[in-house]
Amino acid sequence: MMEEEFPDIQFSIALVDKELDEKVCEETEIHIYYPYNCYCYEYSMKEPDLFVVRDIKPITFRRVVEELCYQGFNPGCNHIFLEDIYKKNKNEYGLWMAS
Ligand SMILES: [Zn+2]
Repeated sequence: MMEEEFPDIQFSIALVDKELDEKVCEETEIHIYYPYNCYCYEYSMKEPDLFVVRDIKPITFRRVVEELCYQGFNPGCNHIFLEDIYKKNKNEYGLWMAS
């Protein structure tokens, strides 16, 4: 289990066909916006989160997971499986969280 590397993790790593050491992009800083707008939050609003991830080399999936753990990311709902990190535009990225 990849989660063992991240003792404080509050979600599950379910990256599809991706290795943790794979690059997310060639950038050294990305902004990940998570809006908490799944059906779980239909009746209870939760403020969106913005996670800034930096490194001295291109950002990898490992670096993102590390930073999400460090910043205490917790979906707090059924959508605990991180399946992908996808580009929205420029250096803005989103998390694909599945149930
Ligand atoms: Zn949810």
